[in-house]
Amino acid sequence: MKRTICIRLDTTQSQENLLWQLQEAYHSACNQIVPDVVANRCWNRVALHHLVYTKVRQTSKLGSQMVCNAIYSVCKAYQAKSIRPTEEVSILRFHKGKSVHFDKRTYTIKDETISLYTLGKRIQVSMRFGPFQKAYFSQGAPKEGELICKKGKWYFNLVLDLPDPPLQEGRALFGVDLGENNVYATSSGKIICGGKIRFERDQFLAKRRALQSNGSQSAKQLLKKISGNEGRRMRHVNHKLSKQIVQEAIEQKAGVIVLEDLTNIRKRIKEGKRMRTRLHRWAFRQLQMFIQYKAQAKGLSVLYVNPAYSSQTCSICGSMGVRTRHQFKCSCGNQQHADWNASRNLCRFALDISKATRAVNRTQVAVKH
Ligand SMILES: [Zn+2]
Repeated sequence: MKRTICIRLDTTQSQENLLWQLQEAYHSACNQIVPDVVANRCWNRVALHHLVYTKVRQTSKLGSQMVCNAIYSVCKAYQAKSIRPTEEVSILRFHKGKSVHFDKRTYTIKDETISLYTLGKRIQVSMRFGPFQKAYFSQGAPKEGELICKKGKWYFNLVLDLPDPPLQEGRALFGVDLGENNVYATSSGKIICGGKIRFERDQFLAKRRALQSNGSQSAKQLLKKISGNEGRRMRHVNHKLSKQIVQEAIEQKAGVIVLEDLTNIRKRIKEGKRMRTRLHRWAFRQLQMFIQYKAQAKGLSVLYVNPAYSSQTCSICGSMGVRTRHQFKCSCGNQQHADWNASRNLCRFALDISKATRAVNRTQVAVKH
């Protein structure tokens, strides 16, 4: 599994100057690449390399490998936007606050010193490891990294490839229904109304909604804003929830956590539908990512299933029942809390291969803490 650790660099004044120079040259190379991305709708790394490499090399102060890294950064930034075929490609700006990508040819780590490429000669910078970083670093193989300056201090976000923990023996399924009324319900029968957590979530969503109603900002701009204060708050809430959920799954001796696949929801929601839905989706997706991340670290896997009809289907006999607010009733006699019924359906669906939409490869997930 991949994990990112953030390492503070102990830089001297002259080293900082070199890093500033590098960052500036790097961003200007990225900005030079952008118009070709826009004109050709191209954010495939290989194709873009053919388009721009020679041109950038002629004008940029960067070495050949750093130019490749700049192409990588631009591609990654555009890929993250998941632009639809009909959508216009906007111009992205690379500036202070954006990172510089380092691959294994542009940095090396020896003991607690990192050697970094700069426009001058390579520099040796000592790294400050906390106990958490040290523990991860001792187990993992270093992959790529991102150099970033925050409030005048330099950091290296290093991606480590860590060995997967052994898979849990018990392959019991554990369904989690993430709801609007209740924060979540699990197939083991736990229903969390959330209290303070739900209050925090709803407050956050209401604030965003208000912001939306007084202007015509697009969802994208909104998502950008979420990265601020409230985003951190929401993140904190989602960290708490995901921790509880994974803990419960472990107590229930589950091997697989079953979640709803939300990817198709996007298609179902027509443009112009209330922002609330989008925001919920965003918050849910983050919560799912955190669950995945924490589950993986404990040797549990995550399975996504198509949630269609999970709230109307009877989790015991499989026929359609009636949902009245929080109650679910079926003609077979099954009568239970609607969210509990839904979470048990996710387990049922997971057993039905045709409905399981996305099994998560345990090595794919990399979420920054
Ligand atoms: Zn039934």
